[in-house]
Amino acid sequence: MEKDNSRRGFLKKSATLALGTIAATSIVNSMFSSNLSTENSKFTLDKLPYGYDALEPHIDRLTMEIHHDKHHQAYVNNLNKAIETLDPTILEGVITFSSIFIKMDKLPAAVRNNAGGHFNHTFFWNIMKPNGGSIPTGNLATAINTTFGSFEEFKKQFTNAGMKHFGSGWAWLVVNDGKLTITSTANQDNPLMEISSVEIKGTPILALDVWEHAYYLKNQNRRADYIQSWWNVVNWDKAGELFAEVK
Ligand code: MN
Repeated sequence: MEKDNSRRGFLKKSATLALGTIAATSIVNSMFSSNLSTENSKFTLDKLPYGYDALEPHIDRLTMEIHHDKHHQAYVNNLNKAIETLDPTILEGVITFSSIFIKMDKLPAAVRNNAGGHFNHTFFWNIMKPNGGSIPTGNLATAINTTFGSFEEFKKQFTNAGMKHFGSGWAWLVVNDGKLTITSTANQDNPLMEISSVEIKGTPILALDVWEHAYYLKNQNRRADYIQSWWNVVNWDKAGELFAEVK
């Protein structure tokens, strides 16, 4: 809880130090500021906010270990390598998720894939928690009911977005101008990226990884089983906090 409070304090502080980019992406940057060491401009991988086995039986320990320590670590390492080769003037000396996403169409694929991979996975770990699931509360619950008719209908549409996404990618619930929208992106793209192939843009408040590496060890090819399990670990408190900050 203390950690959440200090993060909230940091959010407020950094809001006054806005980078001059989109307010929403500043919020997201500040959420994940610990992933960038400003001393040497290297992105770093945080530990999971819970144990590897904390999401059992819904998501298994081995999947979490491999997903975080191997897949996510590789995105971080490859992002740092890709940034080293960049012309430093492209990002005007400011290396943050925000500065990268806003110039996405001018940056090489290695930056796009690995910055997306690092951001998306950091977001994903934080939008899950042990003993999660249940239903959203407060303003987010109201907004979901207003937008989708009911929580059950929202859940159905979000599950469909994950199920129908062909190949590797992500399903998202985003906020744009206070409005909630469900969307999906390919590979490691996300709705914060300023690039034409990302059609629906917005600030994510919920994310679901539908790459096979997220579920293959436990569920093999059964994406539907994985998504069904995933609903039991959603951190609705965090999604609600993000919604309150963004809307
Ligand atoms: Mn993944």
